[in-house]
Amino acid sequence: MASVAEPEAKADLDAFREEVRAFLAENFPPELRGKNNLLSSVEEAGEESPAEKAWRVAMGEKGWGTPTWPKEYGGGGLTKKQARALEEEMAKVGAWNPIGGMGVMMLGPTLLEFASEEQKHEHIPPICKGEIRWCQGYSEPNAGSDLANLQTMAEDKGDHYLVNGQKTWTSGGQWADKCFCLVRTSRADKHKGISFLLIDMHAPGVEVKPIKMISGMSPFCETFFTDVQVPKESLVGEEGQGWTIGKKLLQHERTNLSGGGALAALNSQPLGKVAERYIGLDENGKLADAELRVKIADFEMRWNAFLLTARRAMEESKAQGGVSEISSILKKAGTKLGQERAELMIAIQGYRGLGWEGEGFEQKELDGTRAWLFGKATTIYGGSTEIQNNIIAKRILGMLDHQ
Ligand SMILES: Cc1cc2nc3c(=O)[nH]c(=O)nc-3n(C[C@H](O)[C@H](O)[C@H](O)COP(=O)(O)OP(=O)(O)OC[C@H]3O[C@@H](n4cnc5c(N)ncnc54)[C@H](O)[C@@H]3O)c2cc1C
Repeated sequence: MASVAEPEAKADLDAFREEVRAFLAENFPPELRGKNNLLSSVEEAGEESPAEKAWRVAMGEKGWGTPTWPKEYGGGGLTKKQARALEEEMAKVGAWNPIGGMGVMMLGPTLLEFASEEQKHEHIPPICKGEIRWCQGYSEPNAGSDLANLQTMAEDKGDHYLVNGQKTWTSGGQWADKCFCLVRTSRADKHKGISFLLIDMHAPGVEVKPIKMISGMSPFCETFFTDVQVPKESLVGEEGQGWTIGKKLLQHERTNLSGGGALAALNSQPLGKVAERYIGLDENGKLADAELRVKIADFEMRWNAFLLTARRAMEESKAQGGVSEISSILKKAGTKLGQERAELMIAIQGYRGLGWEGEGFEQKELDGTRAWLFGKATTIYGGSTEIQNNIIAKRILGMLDHQ
């Protein structure tokens, strides 16, 4: 993605850090320290407190919620070094990025690559300010892994498309303002008949039915389109280019999911520290359970190696022009490690890691159990692990179907 030329002089970077510190001192409400919850991207937004709103607006106006996106569309226009410095300075005072969700993770970068100037100016600034909630309308009842089988039809009616069909597993659909959607504009060709359309979730004919899970939560929905009129200006790219655009968006999604996403946010306490608390230390100051000690050390080494590899791979692929199929490797490895981490956390906590709700458990313990269960989904959504294996075999290793 375009950003200002690198690298800048150390003096410039120091001056930038000063600017960040002054901004944080003036704008970050101290009562919001540590309140960040990445799950909010698919949960009901709820009432924003005045402090939360002020913080979001301040960051949005600076463009620092999307620090490396171009300034002309509302981004921060920062270099990667400046963005890193911003992150570090925020961490020092317990500040967090209030701007996120699917608009930031997936749609924004895709629009920057494929949308017209008008579309960029219309859609990207509200994403940078955290004003609009987007949902993803890809999957259908018979089009999950076989995504190109999608049947939702967008019929050309001259000045608009008439959309009919059903999407499923639309995360956060009941709270979203808009949906980026893959639709069929032709039945003649499985892949070239697909187009990328932006649909207003409040338009007549859009119906959202939350899917209730055994936990009682409903983070995703069935979304029905019945004779929904969508203006022609809402088509991104050319008609029939949706498969190419949709796949690129998935690479952004997979790169974002490789860090464990919501799973990591819910369960970010250092394992060693948690183990020290629940298991205790022996007379040599080491974790009392030797077997668990080895497991934690083994995991932490692999996790840190993964994080470093992921950072290197992402820098390399950005230098070569953006995300690539490497995102499949990162997604596969990152989600597997995220699940292992959640398992370890449960093992460390013993029965205290099995609470679901009610008194007698700390909130962090309850969050941990949910993170462990929610983690099962991470190797399914955004493309299952088996599908990542297929992509790695075909597109990275160059293997043929029968190999
Ligand atoms: C928590 C969650 C949130 C989601 N949010 C969204 C969302 O917001 N928007 C959206 O559009 N979708 C969303 N999805 C849907 C998700 O993208 C699909 O579930 C996923 O692509 C898998 O498709 P499927 O469920 O139809 O499974 P299927 O495609 O039926 O797959 C079933 C099993 O068969 C395997 N399989 C299928 N084909 C092959 C093959 N060719 N080779 C090897 N193995 C294969 C799969 O790996 C899997 O194990 C979400 C899913 C979950 C679980």
